[in-house]
Amino acid sequence: MGVSKAVLGEPSIVKAMIQGGARFIADSRIENIEKMRVAGISTEFVLLRTPLSQAESVVRSADISLNTELDTLKKLSYYAKACNKNHQVIVMVELGDLREGVLPLDLSEFIRQTISLSHIKIVGIGCNLACYGGVKPADKNMHELSELFDIIENEFHLGLTIISGGNSANYEWYKSTKHVGNINNFRLGESILLGLETVNRTTIPGLHTGAFQLVAEVIESKKKPSLPFGEIGQDAFGKVPIFKDQGIRQRVIIALGKQDILASGLKSNNGLKILGASSDHIIIDSKNKNLQVGDEVKFNLDYGCLLAAMTSPFIRKRFIYCNDHSRMDH
Ligand SMILES: *Cc1c(COP(=O)(O)O)cnc(C)c1O
Repeated sequence: MGVSKAVLGEPSIVKAMIQGGARFIADSRIENIEKMRVAGISTEFVLLRTPLSQAESVVRSADISLNTELDTLKKLSYYAKACNKNHQVIVMVELGDLREGVLPLDLSEFIRQTISLSHIKIVGIGCNLACYGGVKPADKNMHELSELFDIIENEFHLGLTIISGGNSANYEWYKSTKHVGNINNFRLGESILLGLETVNRTTIPGLHTGAFQLVAEVIESKKKPSLPFGEIGQDAFGKVPIFKDQGIRQRVIIALGKQDILASGLKSNNGLKILGASSDHIIIDSKNKNLQVGDEVKFNLDYGCLLAAMTSPFIRKRFIYCNDHSRMDH
């Protein structure tokens, strides 16, 4: 599954995921799935989260959703009946990361009750690791998921087709394990978009880590002291900042701020050092690079920064189409 939430279901990016072989497109926001449908993207859509109050639109726009709560499933079944269709679900199992999931001990009973709902069809089980608790996918938890699949199949004979082992954090495990077991699906966002596995954030061989570039404009460039002068109180965000005197430095300000991105997630392509950010300004030590007002500076983004930049209405998105595969290989 290609996961599109970090790019807000941007149709041109999602099309590239489908061309690249993604069998499903998964997103955590129903609004993004609706947007992709309106844009004419035809694939199977998976909702990675099920807010109770959106059950009706979930049934209408998503083919499959991840679930852990019976009350939500009852509502989904109610609206699926009204739409005269079956809604497919993947039951998420808690394997230690402590975000979403039914506890393994409760799984049988949860499935038994779900089966009794008339318009819900269970198509798989899954788990999510390395998100909240930072728990790594490993043989132990992945085998547990495989075994739970066997137990559920023995008991209920549902013919589940999706055993979803996790997200981009599963890459290392998948490459190194000798026993993939029953796992036949991953939900991949960051690894596709930024070319990184997410346990250590190392580059996946053959993938491009600079597919997204953030371009910002220099709006001030001056030599200034590195130590603020005057009495120090709170900054714009309620913190009392501490500075080190590094003498007079060439500093630039770029026209981006906390409203657009997380400054900590930006990485300059030519060694500029980010000193700090307020709502609309990022202050940079330009390391004596000769940057002038009006110049453009480019940054790579981490996942959080990509998510924020894509969400900011103030950042213009431009898509560069590349059909030349020999170029894409580099
Ligand atoms: C966001 C999300 C993913 C994708 O995670 P990546 O680390 O970007 O691969 C997978 N599963 C769920 C449930 C998610 O919310």
